Amino acid sequence: MTERNFMNEMSWTTYQKRIEAGAIILLPVGATEQHGPHLPMGTDAMLSTAVAADIAKKIDAIVAPVLSFGYKSQPKMGGGNHFCGTTSLDADTLAHLLRDVIKEFARHGLRQLVLINGHYENMMFTIEGVDLARRELAYMGIHDFQVMRLEYWDFTKRETIEKIFPEGFPGFDLEHAAVMETSLMLHHHPHLVDMAALPDDKPASFPPYDMYPTRTGWVPCSGVLSPAHGCSAEKGKLLADDYATGVTAAIRKEFPNVKDKS
Ligand code: ZN
Ligand code: MN
Repeated sequence: MTERNFMNEMSWTTYQKRIEAGAIILLPVGATEQHGPHLPMGTDAMLSTAVAADIAKKIDAIVAPVLSFGYKSQPKMGGGNHFCGTTSLDADTLAHLLRDVIKEFARHGLRQLVLINGHYENMMFTIEGVDLARRELAYMGIHDFQVMRLEYWDFTKRETIEKIFPEGFPGFDLEHAAVMETSLMLHHHPHLVDMAALPDDKPASFPPYDMYPTRTGWVPCSGVLSPAHGCSAEKGKLLADDYATGVTAAIRKEFPNVKDKS
């Protein structure tokens, strides 16, 4: 039987052996959020999982089940919570979900966790979840639990950005359902991308303030914040390689005890 890296495909006995032998856990966090007419709503969850799966091929790591709901989509980075299907959590729900899961990992012997965020709006609430978990673990007498927390796109190399956007980079926040996410999906899950549905909207332009209720007219009707034209599976592979090598190098640096995959 080939070795499995996904926690939810493992028996508890295999999981226990691997944790005892020093495997770390990679926890992907995503969202269920509109990604235009051409990408699935699980894009953020699928991409953070794909980054984790690539890393688990290189080092002794277990990929935990992805957290598939995220914090409320914001117009300037995810199109906004008004789109049908964008199904979001309150901030404290997300933070508490993370707190509970992290405490369970620690209770079963884990001491090193890597949280891989794939949905911009989750950022501060993943920090909160980690903080609450570590505070409770300290009350339980566990003081040696370490967490690495990251947004995978921060590992995009400058050379890669220059290759992918020869005419200028719109910025990571406007890259919602655009060239980067569509290219990554073409690389990891091509059967889930509908290239015929790629919208022709112009890039969104937002004022430097927010309004409540949301001014939905600020957001392109398609939900795509900058044009996805120019996406390709080759560009997706360049990005995926940056994430697999960059995040793995960071893990080896911070967790030098982690073993390589033989
Ligand atoms: Zn996304
Ligand atoms: Mn998102």
